[in-house]
Amino acid sequence: MAPAFRLDRRAFLACAACAAAGTRFAAAETTTATARDPLKLEKLADGVFAFAAPYELLAPENGGAICNLGLVVGSQAAAVIDTGNSVLTGQRMLEAVRRVTDRPVRYVINTHMHPDHVLGNAAFRGAGGSEPVRFVAHRKMPRALAVRTDTYTDQVRRLLGPLAEGTEVVLPDLLVEERMSLDLGGRVLILESWPTAHTDNDLTVFDEASGTWFLGDLLFVGHVPTLDGSLKGWLTLMETLKARGAARVVPGHGPASVAWPAAAGDERRYLHLVEADVRRLIAEGQPMSVAPDRVAQSEREKWALFDEFNPRNAIAAYHEYEWE
Ligand SMILES: [Zn+2]
Repeated sequence: MAPAFRLDRRAFLACAACAAAGTRFAAAETTTATARDPLKLEKLADGVFAFAAPYELLAPENGGAICNLGLVVGSQAAAVIDTGNSVLTGQRMLEAVRRVTDRPVRYVINTHMHPDHVLGNAAFRGAGGSEPVRFVAHRKMPRALAVRTDTYTDQVRRLLGPLAEGTEVVLPDLLVEERMSLDLGGRVLILESWPTAHTDNDLTVFDEASGTWFLGDLLFVGHVPTLDGSLKGWLTLMETLKARGAARVVPGHGPASVAWPAAAGDERRYLHLVEADVRRLIAEGQPMSVAPDRVAQSEREKWALFDEFNPRNAIAAYHEYEWE
C-alpha cells in the first residue's frame, strides 16, 4: 500500500525536479525505464531468480517496481511470483523472464492482494504459449482484491500518470484452498494459504528442488512491516513459519534472498513491540489518537519508510487490541 505522499529526501528532490519541469510527469517520462527494459534478476539457485525492489513508495521514478518478484523455471514451464504495481513493471518482469528462459509462463502466482504485488498481472496474459496463463492466489484473494479494485487503479493512475496506462486488475482463476502443488516439469512448487496475518489472503510458495521459500509480505526485511490483517495472527503465524526449514527465503520487501529463520528476527521484534506498546496504552486508558506517536518509537531508525507506515500500524493494532 502506498500513501499519496512521499516524505523521504529522495522523493523531495524528485518532486522538486518535477515542479521545475512544469508538471509532475514531464520529468518522469524521460527518466523512467520503458516496458522493454528488463528488471534486474538475481539468480538464487538453478532455475530460481528474484528481483529485489528498492524501499520506495509508488512513484514515476520506479514505475511501480516496488516489491520483490520471483521466477522459477522447470523443464516444461515457468512460474512468476508477484508482478509489481503497474502493467509496466509486469512487462519489464516478462522481459527479464525472456532473457532467462523461452519456456511458457504457465502460472502467475500472487502472494496477496496488495497493489504492488498484483497490478502487473495483465502483462503475462499471452505468456503461456499454447495454453492460457493461470493466475493463482489464496482462496480469499479475489474478494479482497475485487472490493479494492477502484481504489488501487485510481491510486496508480494518480501517482504514475501516463506510466500507468494499461494497468488493470486481473483476478486469479486458480484458487488455493489450503495447499496446492504445481508441477513445472522436474520441479514442484508447494503453495500454501495461511490464516489472517499481513492480510487475510497471504500465500507462500516453496520450491522443493532448491529449498527456496517465497514468503511474500509475511516477511519484511529493511522496509518496515505493514499491517493490513491481524497482528495477533501474524505473530502466531511467524512461529509456525520459523519452525520450518528452508535453504533461503525471499521476502516481499528486502534483499532478493535471506537466511531462514534468522531473517525473521527484526520483524518479530518490531511486531512484538507494537503489540506491547498498544496493550500498555489501552491499559492506561490512553486514546487511539496518541498511538501513532507512542508506539514502537525505538524502532524508528531501524527501518526504511517507518514514518510512512508505523502510524497506521499503530492505529490498526489499537483497533485490534481495544476489545480483547
Ligand atoms: Zn503487502
